[in-house]
Amino acid sequence: KRLQVELGERSYPIWIGPGALGRLPGLLEEAGIDTGRKLFIVTDEHVASLYLEKTTTILRDAGYAVSHFVVVAGEKAKSLAVYEQIITAALKAGLDRKSAFLALGGGVVGDLAGFVAATYMRGVAFVQIPTTLLAHDSSVGGKVAVNHPLGKNIIGAFHQPKLVAYDTELLKTLPPREVAAGFAEVIKHGMIWDETFVTWLEENAEGLQRFDHTLLQEALLRACSVKVAVVSQDEREQGLRAILNLGHTFGHAFEALCGYEKLNHGEAVAIGMVAAAMLSEKMGIAHDVSKRTRRVLMKYRLPVSLMLPLKADDVIAAMRRDKKGEGGKLVFVLPTAIGKVEIKKDVAEEQVREVLRALQEGG
Ligand code: NAD
Ligand code: ZN
Repeated sequence: KRLQVELGERSYPIWIGPGALGRLPGLLEEAGIDTGRKLFIVTDEHVASLYLEKTTTILRDAGYAVSHFVVVAGEKAKSLAVYEQIITAALKAGLDRKSAFLALGGGVVGDLAGFVAATYMRGVAFVQIPTTLLAHDSSVGGKVAVNHPLGKNIIGAFHQPKLVAYDTELLKTLPPREVAAGFAEVIKHGMIWDETFVTWLEENAEGLQRFDHTLLQEALLRACSVKVAVVSQDEREQGLRAILNLGHTFGHAFEALCGYEKLNHGEAVAIGMVAAAMLSEKMGIAHDVSKRTRRVLMKYRLPVSLMLPLKADDVIAAMRRDKKGEGGKLVFVLPTAIGKVEIKKDVAEEQVREVLRALQEGG
C-alpha cells in the first residue's frame, strides 16, 4: 500500500507491506534513482547479519553498483565519529552527488544515514528501508541527526528521503522489547490525532502482537498517515508538528537519566504519555485520560510507571535542557481527551513534581 507525503518538490511515497524489499529496484526507478547511480547502504551489525546480503543481491541483480558500511547496533552509533567513518567509506567507494544512501535498519541507522546524506557534498538522495516498528515514525518526516555527548539529536538537519520502502516481513525478527517500543509510537499517533485508531489498537492488541500481516500493515498505515498529515502541514516544526512530541518531554528526560539500555526510547515515551495524561488531569485540562492511556499501553506490554528511582530535581533539569524547550521553560504536549492534544508552555514546576511523585509510587 502506498502513502504520499506532499511537500512540493520534496514529495515522496511510503510503501508499506510484505515484499517491499523485493520490489526495491522498481521503487527506486520510480523515485528517479536509476541503475546508473551508485548506492551506499548503511546498516547496523544485527540487521546486516539478517538482511544485508539479501538487499545487496536484489539491487545488484537489478544492475546497481552497491557498497555498504556496517555500524555497531544501538544509540552509540549516532555519533560524529561514526558519521566521519561513513563519509570516509563513501568517498573511497567513489560516491558522487548523483549517488544515494540507503538506510537499512531502525531509527538509529535512519537518523545517522540521513544526516550523512544531508551533508555529503552538500546533500545527496537518500532512501529509508525501515526494519523496526519504531522506524515507522523516524523514517517519515525528514528529521535526521547524530548525538552530541551533551545531548541527543543535537547535530542534525531536515532532509526528506526520496522513498520509504517498509517491508513488514522484516519485522518478524525483532526482539519483543523492540516490538513493544515500536507500538509506543504507534499508540502515540492515535493519542494525538484519532480516538478511533486508539480504540482499534485496543481491540486488535492481540492480533497485532502476533504479527498478523493485514493488521500490522493497517496499523502502520494509520500511524504513518497521522505523521504524514502533521508533517505535510508543518515540515519544519513551526507549530503543529510539535504535537508529535506527546510523552517526549518527560520521555527524553527519563531516557537520558536511566540510560538507553535500561529504558529504551519507546518505553520512555510510554511512561511519558502516562505522565502527560496525569499532568493534564492535575491542571484541569482533561478528565479521566490517564486510566485509558495506561490501559492501552499495558495491552502492548509497555511500562506505565517509573521502576527506577529518579530525583525530581534531575528530571526537571533534564527537561529544561531539552532542545524543544524555549529558554529553559517547561513545554508539554498534553491530552485534552483521548485523540486530542494541546501544547502548553511554561507549566508550573510544582505540578510536574507532583506527577513525578505519583509516577514513582506506581501511578
Ligand atoms: P534501533 O535502530 O537501535 O533498533 C533497535 C534494535 O533492533 C537494534 O539493536 C537493531 O540492531 C535491532 N533491529 C533492527 N531491525 C531489526 C530486525 N528487523 N530484526 C532484528 N533486530 C533488528 O532503534 P529504533 O527503536 O528503531 O530507533 C530509535 C532511534 O530513532 C532513536 O535514536 C531515536 O532518536 C530515533 N527517532 C527518530 C525520529 C525522527 O523523527 N527522526 C523519530 C523517532 C525516533
Ligand atoms: Zn519518539
